[in-house]
Parts: sequence; structure tokens; C-alpha cells
Amino acid sequence: MQNQLQRQLKHQVSHAIAKFTETVLPDEFVAQMRATRDWNAWADALTPEILDDLARASLETQRRLFKANVRLVEIETHARCNRVCSFCPNVIVDRRRNKTITNVEMLDRVFDELGSIDFAGQLKVARYSEPLADLDSLYPRIASARMRVPHAQLTIVTNTDYLNPAVLDKLNDLGLNVIYLSLYLKSNETWSVELARDYNERIAAKLGVQVTSKQETPIATHWTFRYKNLDLRSSCMNWDIYGVDRGDSMKQYAVGQRVGPCRAPFDTFVVDYDGSVVPCCNIRSDLPEHKKMVVANLSSLETSIFGTYAGRLSAWRRSMVGFGAKAFPCATCRHLDIPEKSATTIGAHLKKRLTEIQRAELYALPIGMNAERKRESASVSNDRT
Ligand code: SF4
Ligand code: SF4
Repeated sequence: MQNQLQRQLKHQVSHAIAKFTETVLPDEFVAQMRATRDWNAWADALTPEILDDLARASLETQRRLFKANVRLVEIETHARCNRVCSFCPNVIVDRRRNKTITNVEMLDRVFDELGSIDFAGQLKVARYSEPLADLDSLYPRIASARMRVPHAQLTIVTNTDYLNPAVLDKLNDLGLNVIYLSLYLKSNETWSVELARDYNERIAAKLGVQVTSKQETPIATHWTFRYKNLDLRSSCMNWDIYGVDRGDSMKQYAVGQRVGPCRAPFDTFVVDYDGSVVPCCNIRSDLPEHKKMVVANLSSLETSIFGTYAGRLSAWRRSMVGFGAKAFPCATCRHLDIPEKSATTIGAHLKKRLTEIQRAELYALPIGMNAERKRESASVSNDRT
């Protein structure tokens, strides 16, 4: 009891010191400190279970693993997007004419599985479709998700083309929690903070919503708005500077070798419109080069999200947990990479933790060892053909 009190007190004191320190230090330094703290906490939470292949473990173990680690589940309710943006792989894969609707029984099965563990993370309709381009497929699935996964934070990401006050009202009534508004400039416009502000003001006026906060940097604006129970969060980015190479498909963003670990296969679970499960949001089953990265397909009644996460995805986690050059499609990915200035500190912390849990060999996996996950993924692709 006394130990517990001491720990609590120590935690409160450290938290108070951290908060005070942050108020007197430059923003860039504070951001770096926070990132280091966050990555170290992630390393501390690593266990043998999350790194081992638990495909044959009990369903109870697999469910526990998923609940303890997955914070975000991404799905699509259909395939179509009305736009073709230069920074998105939809310039390669045509989603304008793909009118496929996601199998509703499959999605409801996913919701039921999430409901069975009382999933309280984020359930996001996103990926490479525009959710509002087909309201008939979106609305019933939002209603279904709300009922089957009552404590999930339900969200969509939209390019705002089809968003209007009536749609906003309906989404609010269905129990959606958050709308991410991606504000894109016209192709003949050049990004500036002023222009980004203008776009934010226009969307606020179009929807009749109040601005609740504004955050601006030289390459992005992030504003928030409120409508009844809905949070609206905008981002307007300078895509000439900011961008991710999307699994080596957007070469203009391949700026350097990725060395740091990647948390995506640990805390996200991503399902394409056809039921394909992929290791992260940057990999898509309809891009030929990525097809072999599909780890499972949930259209099969025998395939569960828990078994897929505990089994096939564990190979991705092993290959992405350490430091060292990464293989395709991660070789030049900068998605949620560690800040360069914190690499040494985070690396040392991670190495110590992997040693503690007797998985030290994963810290500096040679690049060739990344083939392990490719072999496993390929065997899934072969199973499916
Ligand atoms: S960035 Fe969004 S709106 Fe643009 S093509 Fe991709 S999915 Fe569609
Ligand atoms: S590093 Fe690889 S697994 Fe991680 S987000 Fe990038 S492409 Fe996905």
C-alpha cells in the first residue's frame, strides 16, 4: 500500500515537473520531449506476446491482445472517391469509377467482434474512398457500428465536397463523434497560411459551425469546430512539403531511408473495402505492388480480426520494432517516424526494454530478415488464389 502511494506521489511530482518545464521551454524542444516520452512509454509497454506469433493461442488470449493494443480500426464502407489528388495513390489506382460497396455482413461481423471486447478506441471510415460519396452505404453502417460497438469513438475522414448542414445533422443523429475535414487547395493555387485560413473560414460558413480552436504552422493549419455532439477537426496541409510516400508509391515523398521503428502494425487494424487486412494505412490491397502485403481477408467467415492481429500481423511487428534500415514498402516511409534528434535516447530505451523481455535480437534486425513478413504475406496471397 505504502509502495503504491509512493509510486502515485512520484508520478504526480514527475508530471507536475514535466508540465512546469514545458511552460518555460521553446515549442520545438517541448515537442521533442513529448515525442521521446511517448516513444519510451510505447517501448515500456512491449511484451513478448505482442511480438510472438499467437495464431494458435486461445481466442481469449487473442482478444485480450487486441483490446490492450489496438487504438484505431480503419474501414471503408465503399470504394469510390470523387477526387484524384496528386499526393494520393488514387492517381495510380482509379477509385472514381470503382462503385464497389463493402459487404455489409462482413462489416457487421467486424463490429460484433469489436463489440465483444467493448472496444473503446477509434473506429474510422477512411482509407482511399470518400465516405460521403455514397451516403446509402455509409449511414446504415454508422448506425450499425454505434449499436454494436457502443463505446467506440466513431469518426469519418472527408474531403468535404458532399458535406452540408443536412448531412452534418444526420451524422450527428446517427451517433458519429468526430469528422476529420481534409481541406484541399485547387490545383492552380499555392499553399499559404492565409489561403488555408480562408478555406477554414469557408467551410465554417458553409456548415454554419463555430470555430473552437486554431493551430497554425508554416506548413499546416488545424482548426476545430463544434456542431451539437460532433467534433469537427480540419487539416489544411502544404502538400509540396508535407507528405508520405504511401508504401513507396508516391516517390516525390521518398526523402530518406527509414531507420526508426513503426508503431502502426501495433496499434492500428486496417481493413480495405474488399475485406483485405493490411499492416497500416499506407498499404492498400488494390495497388499491384502491395497485393502481397495483404495478411488476411475478412470476407472468409473463418477469419477473425483477433486471430489476424495475433498471428499474421505479428511478423510485421517483429520486423518494425527495432532500429535499422527497413525493407520495401517501408524503406522511405516517414509516417509517424521518430524525431531524428531523439533517436539515440529512444533507441537506448527500446534496446533496454527488448533485452528485458528477452527479444533483444529484434532490436537490430538485418534488412534481409524483413523478408520473413513477405514470405508469410505471400503465403496468404497464395492461399487466396
Ligand atoms: S486524398 Fe482523399 S480525396 Fe484525394 S484522392 Fe485520396 S482519398 Fe480521394
Ligand atoms: S513504416 Fe511501413 S508499416 Fe509503418 S506506416 Fe510506413 S509503410 Fe506502414
